[in-house]
Amino acid sequence: MLKTQLQYKAIGRGVWFKEVDERYSTQACSCCGVISASSPKGMDMDGLAVRSWVCPDCEAEHDRDINAALNRLRFGLRCQTPVDGIPSL
Ligand SMILES: [Zn+2]
Repeated sequence: MLKTQLQYKAIGRGVWFKEVDERYSTQACSCCGVISASSPKGMDMDGLAVRSWVCPDCEAEHDRDINAALNRLRFGLRCQTPVDGIPSL
């Protein structure tokens, strides 16, 4: 329902909208891409209680929600068709 509303609002305002696969976006390190054994996992109360973690590979400190948002942004940008005049990342 939320995604449908976001798509509706984006189209109405001429904004690019792309639904991305969210799998592993919480678990993957947004700096190096590694999914480690210490990454937050699960949707139960114990899993959701892990709000921050440190990547054992690159030692980056992550807030769970910000890390997931960065991964989802990257997934979306990979799918984006280049637009003339707008530099790509
Ligand atoms: Zn890392």
